Amino acid sequence: MADKLAWIGEELQALRDAGLYNHIRTLGSPQGAWLQVDGQRVLNFCSNNYLGLANHPRLLAAAEEAMRKYGLGPAAVRSIAGTMDLHVELDKRMAAFKGVEAAITLQSGFTANLAVLPALVGKEDAIFSDELNHASIIDGSRLSGATIVRYKHCDPADLQRVLAERRGEFRRALVVTDGVFSMDGDVAPLPEIYAVTSQADAILMVDDAHGEGVLGKGGRGIVDHFDLHGKVDVEVGTFSKAFGVVGGVVAGNARIVEWLRQRGRPFLFSSAMTVPDVAACLAAVDLLEESNELVERLWANTEFFKKEMQALGFDTGKSVTPITPVMLGDEQLAQKFSKAMFEAGVFAMAIAFPTVPRGTARLRVMISAAHSNSDLEHGLQAFADVGRKLGVIS
Ligand SMILES: *Cc1c(COP(=O)(O)O)cnc(C)c1O
Repeated sequence: MADKLAWIGEELQALRDAGLYNHIRTLGSPQGAWLQVDGQRVLNFCSNNYLGLANHPRLLAAAEEAMRKYGLGPAAVRSIAGTMDLHVELDKRMAAFKGVEAAITLQSGFTANLAVLPALVGKEDAIFSDELNHASIIDGSRLSGATIVRYKHCDPADLQRVLAERRGEFRRALVVTDGVFSMDGDVAPLPEIYAVTSQADAILMVDDAHGEGVLGKGGRGIVDHFDLHGKVDVEVGTFSKAFGVVGGVVAGNARIVEWLRQRGRPFLFSSAMTVPDVAACLAAVDLLEESNELVERLWANTEFFKKEMQALGFDTGKSVTPITPVMLGDEQLAQKFSKAMFEAGVFAMAIAFPTVPRGTARLRVMISAAHSNSDLEHGLQAFADVGRKLGVIS
């Protein structure tokens, strides 16, 4: 009989041949400025641990204490028996932190997008979506059954054009964009997107996964950054990046949040966040509300690193956030560069097609408040050495 799974081997081989196979590195240490990766100690330029909270003593202590009181798992979906007072507290604290009417927490940012989009639009409706939006927005959009109309990346004029052309065909419309785009580190022009959306009778949704803990006063996110409080209907966020834990959140209009408690499928059919996760997230909110210090350090590190990289002659693209692409262009060169950096003790991922367009391969450096000045100096020296050796800079 034919091997019914033979195709998988062929597909995997095709990935290897094209240089697109994911080789997954394994960490043997907590997150931080330095990591043990595949047995080697390396400077970490890869993680979304923007504020260094992933191994912060206050978060660890909060998780331990909560586990002693509440145990480990919620043992139910939130709508049956999985909502503990801790979950309700986190919902409330996040609403206050983000300056919105209400918030609801879910298992991850990915499931938050899968909850929101199908709850708000369906077959008779349209989603107007930035062409570079995150995979979870794309999947949530497909699940909703709505017609997906893409507009040019960060281009409010193009959004206005497609809304004018097509809005009339649909019952409801929703405009959705990433706040910070994770491959280029650019920020959506949200005030202009709001202006266009508000003229078109459309719901406005922003995914603030890379903005929370990074943008706005004390890390309150993109809506605060642009002072658009009350104008964005719904925000999706994650606890897996700056918050250093794992989990998702939907924040915004109280009616939308109420509707998700009734109709958000990952809320209704997948168990709640675990006790230590929720408790650690609450400690993260405490820390952020008490002090801007970590957010300020993140930005000071970002500005220093970018300035020095540019002085060395590197092209850091159009980033305006701690996400720092080091543009190399050629796919093979990016792979080679990343490998040489790893050998020099610096862990920085090469990002290439199909994650970014062909010919725009880069190393992506993720700056963190956890980096000390000497860590950054060490990374810059490795970039200088490898860049000269490979002829990227002179
Ligand atoms: C990382 C990310 C997500 C997914 O968040 P998780 O909590 O890791 O599932 C969703 N949207 C955007 C824009 C992201 O960058």
